[in-house]
Amino acid sequence: MSNAEWFDRARAVIPGGVNSPVRAFGSVGGTPRFFASATGPYVTDVEGRDYVDLVCSWGPAILGHAHPAVIDAVQQAAARGLGFGASTPGETELAELVIDRLQPQVERLRLVSTGTEATMTAIRLARGATGRDLLVKFAGHYHGHSDGLLAEAGSGLATLAIPGSAGVPAAIAAQTIVLPYNSLEAVLQLFAERGSEIAAIIVEAAPANMGVVTPSEGFNAALVEIAHANGALVISDEVLTGFRASRTGWAGIDPVPYAADIVTFGKVIGGGLPLAALGGSAAIMELLAPLGPVYQAGTLSGNPVAVAAGLATLRTADDAVYARLEAVADTLVSQVSAAFTAEGVAHTVQRAGTLFSFAFSAEAPTTYEQVKQQQAHRYPPFFHAMLDAGVSLPPSVYEAWFVSAAHDDAALSRIIDALPAAAKAAASA
Ligand code: PLP
Repeated sequence: MSNAEWFDRARAVIPGGVNSPVRAFGSVGGTPRFFASATGPYVTDVEGRDYVDLVCSWGPAILGHAHPAVIDAVQQAAARGLGFGASTPGETELAELVIDRLQPQVERLRLVSTGTEATMTAIRLARGATGRDLLVKFAGHYHGHSDGLLAEAGSGLATLAIPGSAGVPAAIAAQTIVLPYNSLEAVLQLFAERGSEIAAIIVEAAPANMGVVTPSEGFNAALVEIAHANGALVISDEVLTGFRASRTGWAGIDPVPYAADIVTFGKVIGGGLPLAALGGSAAIMELLAPLGPVYQAGTLSGNPVAVAAGLATLRTADDAVYARLEAVADTLVSQVSAAFTAEGVAHTVQRAGTLFSFAFSAEAPTTYEQVKQQQAHRYPPFFHAMLDAGVSLPPSVYEAWFVSAAHDDAALSRIIDALPAAAKAAASA
């Protein structure tokens, strides 16, 4: 069966034919590819065509797809049993590894199954710790799909150009205040007015769900300072950037060091299986049940097969892996930018460690408003020209590009060869 036939069949039984909206190709048009397998830097569709993958499972696949160390760990764990609903040694080993790498920010770690759960729990924890209700988030930041976090969110909501979601009670939406990103004035003004009601600021450590938009210098550190001066906490969402922007996430490479109160992780930490986490100081984290009054639980939390994938991924991702990710990102950033320049396509390079994206605007956007003003119509023809040439990009201009250490010179050559025609398609859009 072809991709189109699978899509038709899927649409008859799955809303929109997809289990996560951006997969439907809504903003780029055309038929989504249905993938049959993936290895290294390539994904192969049901028609047997392979593509160099620049989505990498939306982040987890830093080693490339089906890395032997990860597959082996998963197979061994699966053979021992898929889950016990009880503790396993691997959970402690994973917590030790993360704490060792991210001290002093993270002293305790709780495992959950998705990034959505991690941020949802982090917010409940912040509210429990402060006894306050209000949450501050930034426009264009995506923190998963829990009720209070969908206001002016990035990712699929940016792609679909919708301000929020139906079905969120007004009383819950009222507990979230959305501010423009990178504006300390807006943060200061809000805290001056309502500082004593605010439980936490939640912020993507380096936003990558409206394309990549880097924090202005010292922004994260200033947020921590303002929040603490007002008795509030900062939740730094590293679901996307953690273990990907660098070995120590965004926090490890932010030019101005800062220590958030709670950090959320997902994607890479699970090595491609459903696993996410939240971490922070012992004092805050031990407010969680069973020690403290803030409840959180999960049938699949810390699932041993997912833990095995995460452990194998983090253990294998040594300095050489991160050096390769950097090198691949450097090459692609310069080659893509050169191709756009050659065709006179106004663009800016957006970069956060090994993460990057391109905005079709003359000046680098620093807020969601500016991101939305770019010439987004140039992306679909660019995307499809690349796809036709065997390169799978994120199906939205509002997503980051993800590379892996398995992107070798052959994979890079295919991307580079495809660029002139794709840039021409973007120019003539
Ligand atoms: N936070 C950030 C920064 C994300 O990028 C995402 C997902 O893309 C999430 C939270 C939600 O994670 P999940 O899709 O695993 O629920």
